[in-house]
Amino acid sequence: MRLAFILFYLFLSPYLFGQVDSLRIICQKQLIPFVDGQDLLWMYRQRDTLKSVSPTGPIELVVNEKLIGLTDSLSLRYSASLSGEYPALDSIWYSVLAGEIHAFEMQKDSLHKRVDQLGWKMRYLQSARDLKRQQQLNRSGRSQVLLSFHNFGLAADVGLYSRRKYLKRSTRYSRLGQEAKSLGMFWGGDFVGFPDPGHVQRFANSAAFIEKYPFISFEFERYRDAYQRAYWKKQSVGREDLVKDTEALLISMNRQRIGGVCACQYATLPTVQIPINSNAKVEVNTQQNWVYIQPKGSNGYYYSLGRWEYEAKN
Ligand SMILES: [Zn+2]
Repeated sequence: MRLAFILFYLFLSPYLFGQVDSLRIICQKQLIPFVDGQDLLWMYRQRDTLKSVSPTGPIELVVNEKLIGLTDSLSLRYSASLSGEYPALDSIWYSVLAGEIHAFEMQKDSLHKRVDQLGWKMRYLQSARDLKRQQQLNRSGRSQVLLSFHNFGLAADVGLYSRRKYLKRSTRYSRLGQEAKSLGMFWGGDFVGFPDPGHVQRFANSAAFIEKYPFISFEFERYRDAYQRAYWKKQSVGREDLVKDTEALLISMNRQRIGGVCACQYATLPTVQIPINSNAKVEVNTQQNWVYIQPKGSNGYYYSLGRWEYEAKN
């Protein structure tokens, strides 16, 4: 009898208690009686990514037929991030990340001094990087990350030189890494799958970054599809070990989204023709429980309102 009980718990408890998959979230349709401006911006980001060709421009936000304005500084930053094709993330987020960027600058100075003491010649190569440049590097295969700490001014690339010649490969980079780590930085030579021995950064990985600054996950959200594809691709061939950072990032991003308002699947075509040159727009009707999302210069779609939930593990 007792054995039957144990077996029952062993095999059935996952179903009874609903194990969730922390890597998969789904927009679950439900009545949403109240939304704020930030909810609307998140839904816009959810449905529109850098895939769209043209910059978004200003976004019109409407709740129950009333135009709403953004007042809090976070919403204004989200809005700035959505409004440009390649927004300069370092300038949008500089004031909130200033302490972090400043601390990183001090680490960089200390690292430079230590390398000088070794009698080696070093130089910081271009460190800040905009999104357009990041995309170019990504397409050419020179970078595998979609959103880099360089985009926030929280990473730097070091060039070591010998007799005025740039050292592309050298054991000196391992020593550089040791020094960087002893100063609390994280070294690209430790990256799994795509080691980058000249690279140093402020955080261990993107997951650690958004755990400390949850609002910054708004920037990572634009690449959600790509992160998921990259993760499932490696997982399907049994190489999750190569995408540990991506896995950690997705888990953190999902944790931030759970319970948040979302635009659920099964879009329908707009019932009225909206002029193609109008602004980007997000409109919510809480009585009828729908959201209408229209990128600039293209057709909009209606979605049911809901909240993010974890999918059940299968
Ligand atoms: Zn780098």
